[in-house]
Amino acid sequence: MAITLQSTIEGGFSAEFMRRLPKVEQAMIANGLEPADFVISKDRATPPSVPFIGPFFYDYTVFVGDENFTVTEPNDMVFLDYFYQRCIAEEEPAEALADQLVGKEPGGLAYAYLVSGGSEAIEASIKLARQYFIESGEPQRQRFIARRQSYHGNTLGALAAGGNAWRRESYAPLLSAAFSHVAPAFAYHEKRDDESEVDFVTRLAAELEAEFQRLGPDTVAAFIAEPVVGATAGCVPPPEGYFGAVRDICNRHGALLILDEVMCGMGRTGTLHAWEQEGIAPDIQAIAKGLGGGYQPIGAMLASGRIIDTIRQGSGAFQHGHTYLAHPLACAAALEVQRIIDEDKLLDRVRVLGSQLERRLTERFGNHRHIGDIRGRGLFWAIELVADRTSRAPFDPGLKLNQRIKAAALENGLACYPGGGTVDGRSGDHVLLAPPYIATPDDIDMIVDRLGSAVDSALKSVGH
Ligand code: PMP
Repeated sequence: MAITLQSTIEGGFSAEFMRRLPKVEQAMIANGLEPADFVISKDRATPPSVPFIGPFFYDYTVFVGDENFTVTEPNDMVFLDYFYQRCIAEEEPAEALADQLVGKEPGGLAYAYLVSGGSEAIEASIKLARQYFIESGEPQRQRFIARRQSYHGNTLGALAAGGNAWRRESYAPLLSAAFSHVAPAFAYHEKRDDESEVDFVTRLAAELEAEFQRLGPDTVAAFIAEPVVGATAGCVPPPEGYFGAVRDICNRHGALLILDEVMCGMGRTGTLHAWEQEGIAPDIQAIAKGLGGGYQPIGAMLASGRIIDTIRQGSGAFQHGHTYLAHPLACAAALEVQRIIDEDKLLDRVRVLGSQLERRLTERFGNHRHIGDIRGRGLFWAIELVADRTSRAPFDPGLKLNQRIKAAALENGLACYPGGGTVDGRSGDHVLLAPPYIATPDDIDMIVDRLGSAVDSALKSVGH
């Protein structure tokens, strides 16, 4: 009796893409056997080595009555052995999480690829975009356009996509030339005083269009951006119409839009996905932090049905993988976090508390002579420090003002997220706030009070 696992994955080409998991049992059932008729035992063909995962295979011995035979994995599924180890008994959290994330296909995102963090989600996104174009007959699409002052992670692909000069500097010789960068949609620094918001968006769109033309529009695989820029610029929401313009340019040139919602996603800005507020949807999305709420390391790439269907009908497998894809513990924790967010209606709370946070920050810092900008969305807000409000000149980076604020805040019992290099990766200081969704109105008041004291005492320590 010859049975291959290939028969089990009809319609669900790759086990790592959650929604349909291949199982040896399903193969048996697909071949006409009742579950009671067979017993499966797994033999290790080569021992799995967790730190050095490589092509290794399990043979499954299936006993049916007096007969027994071996089911061997197909060659294009080299990573499935570790996966099987879990999925036979423990696929449920991953399937349930995938169902939660993409079961209703938000914005056409129909598949979830569950990884262990944000950088992994970005690496997977870049590779999926590349593989999609190989399989859709456009292998010349190998360029990626991203933005200065964005952060996409610290692994080499993600770092190459990122546009933060300081983070890239040491590794510049290792970063791929396939990535180029355009201006961020950062109104406080990039918008000219004589420019309206509409003109600003038009100028940014023209720059992106020019970059497509410079590279050759049919060589671009994707544009990558954070809808609300997080760590490197401090909670920068896009000007109105910006993402609509970006989406149009990508569509016109046949490129994909990859949105990095590792920091700003999963409810942080008041909607589950930050892109919901922009009236567009991405082709590929990376999420992480809010997915597991910090209880377990987890991230995910969400991808449109069109992309996955193309690969399914092509090679049939995403050429990528990690040991801990769809780890059941991580998935179970993320599911629970998402259940609580849903059941306790925490996104309503994010919106209400977010308005309070904005109001309180404006009251406390709106007239502060060293706070140049207060910006954000939902429970994701930042203040930017300037030496001079009129010229927007930053403080000397040598003063390490943001680190002084961090130390003063911690002393005062406040954990905030200060960053430097806000303007250009080297100069500028901001402080980012991302309170938990379960914060109370009193907590919000306390956060702003403590931040106010920390900012004033840090400024005093540098003579201001
Ligand atoms: N993208 C963004 C927008 C991030 O904020 C981060 C982490 N700060 C990453 C990617 C990388 O995620 P991780 O640190 O989990 O690899």
